[in-house]
Amino acid sequence: MAPTRTNGPVIVLGAGVIGLTTAVRLLEADPSLDVHILADHFPSDTLDANYASTIAGAHHLSFADDGDARQRRWDMRTFNVLYDEWKRVGETSGLMVLTQTEMWEGATAHLAIYEEHPDFRMLDPATAQCADISHMVSFTSLTIAPALYLASLEARVRALGAKLHRAHVPSLVALRTDPGLLALYGNPPSSVFLCAGLGARHLVSPSEAAALFPTRGQVVVVRAPWMRSGYTRQVGALGGGEGGTRTYVIPRCTGEVVLGGTMEKRDWTPYPREETAEDILQRALQICPDIAPPYARTWGEGEQVAALRSIVVRHAVGFRPSRDGGARVALGSAAGMRVVYNYGHGGAGWQSCWGCAEDAVALWAAGSARL
Ligand SMILES: Cc1cc2nc3c(=O)[nH]c(=O)nc-3n(C[C@H](O)[C@H](O)[C@H](O)COP(=O)(O)OP(=O)(O)OC[C@H]3O[C@@H](n4cnc5c(N)ncnc54)[C@H](O)[C@@H]3O)c2cc1C
Repeated sequence: MAPTRTNGPVIVLGAGVIGLTTAVRLLEADPSLDVHILADHFPSDTLDANYASTIAGAHHLSFADDGDARQRRWDMRTFNVLYDEWKRVGETSGLMVLTQTEMWEGATAHLAIYEEHPDFRMLDPATAQCADISHMVSFTSLTIAPALYLASLEARVRALGAKLHRAHVPSLVALRTDPGLLALYGNPPSSVFLCAGLGARHLVSPSEAAALFPTRGQVVVVRAPWMRSGYTRQVGALGGGEGGTRTYVIPRCTGEVVLGGTMEKRDWTPYPREETAEDILQRALQICPDIAPPYARTWGEGEQVAALRSIVVRHAVGFRPSRDGGARVALGSAAGMRVVYNYGHGGAGWQSCWGCAEDAVALWAAGSARL
């Protein structure tokens, strides 16, 4: 892409996976830009439910409906970018390639997008390790260790010349008028990429803010380095998005395994619930008995849960930044600036990040060319 004409600095608001991937693609498109990333949270911070990127599983397991061409394109583009990166650098940036087994209770069909993954296979549900499975497939996918991948993205944006500032932005107008913010980047910005996750609800119109809500997710992280395959059980219909109940076992290249989960709409409770954690441990053992430590594999169910409890590293809760109608990736204007919206990714921000970042930058570049 040819250098793009802009006046003043360009702000990327948010340093989750969406803001950082957007900043990478922006600076790759035009290295001459003066890009400043502003955020309350940065990758090396302690875990916080309001910083979804650090709490996520995170696996690449699309739930894009067969008819949702936009989400399918974002998800597959992201899979291919991550898969290529893994082929180049292996697990050094936090990526792990694995066989993913997806099981359904009640359904007899899978999402078409899974057939686009390498090594897609239909499996006999009678061979599932848990009862009542009616449909089962496997394919090659990948998982991401968020702390490692976010750190690698931060290093990439710094190397590309972005400046990072810890700052709370109370409104878009403040980016052009607040003396404290202006002192960080000199002149009023010409453009802002709004990648603030759930925080966007304080920065957009009231009607748009009403479409944004948290979908609480609770997980249990165990240390089980023997696990090198991923498993998921879906009970009930996805309903074109993230419906039904999902149990997942997500190994990471670090040897940690994320067990989950929950999908609790509009629940702002930021701490783990003990009864939920127990339920997650039991469900995880049902779909994947190998998660039990090897010495406990022949034990009874109660003892296996106790053995699993003994390898718990932490409990965590995060708020997926959900939006009625799905993610908002769009060009607009506000407070005298060009605004590119890139937020509201719900439970799919990791698996769609690169596709969304590329669309956001393309929208911005097309808007610049018209000036
Ligand atoms: C339990 C759980 C499991 C998940 N599993 C998966 C998975 O397996 N696969 C997947 O694809 N996705 C998963 N997700 C979803 C994924 O984590 C999110 O979609 C993604 O992290 C959203 O990224 P983001 O950058 O938009 O938001 P965030 O990571 O929340 O980052 C928001 C950024 O904006 C900043 N910010 C917000 N408001 C302001 C403000 N006013 N001023 C300054 N800074 C501000 C914050 O400080 C932060 O830096 C999961 C989420 C949870 C909670």
